[in-house]
Amino acid sequence: MRFCSYCYAESDELSKCGKCKKRLYCSRECQAKDWKSGKVGGAHKLYCGISGEINIDYEIRNTGRSDVGDGIFALRDFGKNEVIIVERPIITVAQRALNPLIPDVPESAKHMVDALMPKNGTFKEKIDRNGISCTDECVVDGLTGLFLTLSKANHCCLGNSDHQYFDHRRVKILVSSKPIAKGEEITFSYVSSLKWNERKLKLAGYPYLFQCKCVACTSQSVEEKLAKVWKLDDEILRLGGQGKVEMALRKEELLLNLYEELGLSMWLYQKTYYDLFQVCITKQKFLSQGRRYIGMAHQALVAFSKGRSAPRSSPI
Ligand SMILES: [Zn+2]
Ligand SMILES: [Zn+2]
Ligand SMILES: [Zn+2]
Repeated sequence: MRFCSYCYAESDELSKCGKCKKRLYCSRECQAKDWKSGKVGGAHKLYCGISGEINIDYEIRNTGRSDVGDGIFALRDFGKNEVIIVERPIITVAQRALNPLIPDVPESAKHMVDALMPKNGTFKEKIDRNGISCTDECVVDGLTGLFLTLSKANHCCLGNSDHQYFDHRRVKILVSSKPIAKGEEITFSYVSSLKWNERKLKLAGYPYLFQCKCVACTSQSVEEKLAKVWKLDDEILRLGGQGKVEMALRKEELLLNLYEELGLSMWLYQKTYYDLFQVCITKQKFLSQGRRYIGMAHQALVAFSKGRSAPRSSPI
C-alpha cells in the first residue's frame, strides 16, 4: 500500500520529502501542508528524519492469525522511546457511545475506510472496532479517530508502544515503550487497567470480543509484577489520605522501577506524579515537593512527544 502521508490518496507516483527522503506525498501542496504544525498541518517539520515511515521502518501485513487479520510489524530494530508513527486521523467523530453521525470522509481516503474491519460493516461498526481515542487531557468531550495505519495495531496488555494525541497539532504519535526487534509486531494495550480481571472483562465485551493470550495474561510471574504495580499505586493514595505523606513518597521508587522493568506506558508515570502531587499538597511541609511532581507530570508528556524517557526524581 503506497499512499500520500497527508491526504491518504493511493498512488504509484508519489514523491519523497526532500529532507528525510522517506515520507511520501502525492503533490507539493500535500507536502507543504504536512510540513506545517497546527490544525491543518501534519507537524512533519517536528518529526522529519526522526519518525518512522510506512514500508521503510514498519509495514502493515497479515498476522497469520485469522481472528486478528492485519497488524503493524517493525522492518528494523527500534530502541526504547523512538517515534514510530506520526499520523493525522482520517476523520474524528464524537465518542463511540454517542452513536456518531457519519461525517464527511475525505474522498481520497474513502477506499481506506471501506477496507477497515468488519468487512461490509456499517460506519459505526468500523469506528467501534478501529477507532482510537483522540482526546487530549484538556478536552472534555472525547473524540475517536480512524487512522490508516494506527487503526491496524493489535492489542497486547504489555504492548511495546504507546500513543498520544496532540490536539493542537491534530496528530497522533506512536512511540516505542521498549526496544522492538526487526520483524516483531508493534502493539499497545486497548485498555488502561492493569488488573487482570478488569482487562479480561473489558476485552471480552463489545467491541473487542476476544480473550487475550499475551504474556501478561499467561505468565504468572508477569501477572504478579503487575499486581504489585497496582497495589503500590493504590497504596500511595491510601497512605496520602491517612496523612502518611513520607510513607507514600517512599513507594515512588519501587513503583517507577516496576514501570521501567515492565516497559509500561507513559500514562502511568504521569498518573503517579500527579498522585504524588495530590499527596504532597495535603501538608505544608511538602508543598514545594508537590510542585516538583506536577512539573514532572507535565515533563513526562513533553518527553514522550519528543521520543525521550519520562523524568525520574532519583537515579534508577
Ligand atoms: Zn496528498
Ligand atoms: Zn521529511
Ligand atoms: Zn493480555
